[in-house]
Amino acid sequence: MVRRNKSYRSLTAFLFTSFLLVGAILLEGLLVKLPNISKGAVASERVGVIHVHTRASDGSGTVADVMDAAEKANLSFIAITDHNVAMTESDIAEDPPDLPILSGVELSTSAGHFLALGVPASWVQPKTSNDRDLLAAARAVGAFRVLAHPFHPHTPWTDWKTNDFDGMEIWNEDATWRQNSFFGLLNALLLYPENDQLALVRLARTPDENFAKWDELLQQRPLAGICAADTHARIRLGFGHDWRFPGYVPSLKVAREHVLLPPDAGGGNPALASADELLNALRKGHSYCGLDSLYPADGFSFGVSSANASGGPGDFLPWTGAARLQISVPSGSSLPLIKIFRDGREIDEQQARTIDEPISGPGRYRTEVFLRQPGLTGWGRWTLWVFTNPVYVTSW
Ligand SMILES: [Zn+2]
Ligand SMILES: [Zn+2]
Repeated sequence: MVRRNKSYRSLTAFLFTSFLLVGAILLEGLLVKLPNISKGAVASERVGVIHVHTRASDGSGTVADVMDAAEKANLSFIAITDHNVAMTESDIAEDPPDLPILSGVELSTSAGHFLALGVPASWVQPKTSNDRDLLAAARAVGAFRVLAHPFHPHTPWTDWKTNDFDGMEIWNEDATWRQNSFFGLLNALLLYPENDQLALVRLARTPDENFAKWDELLQQRPLAGICAADTHARIRLGFGHDWRFPGYVPSLKVAREHVLLPPDAGGGNPALASADELLNALRKGHSYCGLDSLYPADGFSFGVSSANASGGPGDFLPWTGAARLQISVPSGSSLPLIKIFRDGREIDEQQARTIDEPISGPGRYRTEVFLRQPGLTGWGRWTLWVFTNPVYVTSW
């Protein structure tokens, strides 16, 4: 009898706590308003999303639906990458001048998936699954080749012996949300109907394996790191039913690549930069990733300067005996945690809005910046907000 009372009491306590927690999560969904994301806040930056699927493969929307969502998410470019099928001329022609489409394809190979961006309309890939043959074929048409979700639980990249690619996804939204625990997913599912932006922010996790691999490869050669959405807006529930999660608009607000353009881009108006100009900048690593749904990262700056030269993400700078590293975050965000890495080793960590400090020698310098989760039920967890391509301070 005593034991029964005891288990009855713990069951009641469990139900009561769960009830309170669910109530708190739902209430926060109503109360926590994340900032709106405006378009073109900084003239020399174009903000876009890479890796989006349409009905041409396993996405739920047409190219027109995706372009409509891209307008709503205030993007200034988008890279559409269906599985093993290139875009048609008429699909590519759906882009307005201030929202170019980077025409891409996601190729399935025996070693995993990779994106080929900037492929010609209706490009037909060779009929093989050999990764090296497919990488070479994409190189032959001038594509920017990016390893997709290299540490995805089901389809990781496995051929690390080849170096015939130009970049890798550091963040892949689809692979990231799947890394959450049951409770993390439950929290987001409760929030999603009333606050999709907060729900997706709650699912953000730091892709440590991707960062570690990137640092390892950067020791051998420069390599662009990007963030990708991998949006399908569809989960198959079985029996012919789909659930449009996460939807195109909320998904296109999460992880966005900020491309840094020279002032002469777009014929003197970077807002009109072409798909080719954007691809060129991405290829060189002139970009950083912002989880803009947490806080718009427009205007974030990271660079190294010496007496006679300065450079930002993707730039090369000769080491001349002294230089300073400078970081500044857009005003208005909460106080961030900034980590600085040199050749993959963390050399500094500070809660600050600006950093200006000397560096001690050549190396590949990059940064990861974190903001706390908003709201009480985010438990103040530091959440990846920005990561940049490295500045290469060289000794040759
Ligand atoms: Zn894939
Ligand atoms: Zn994909």
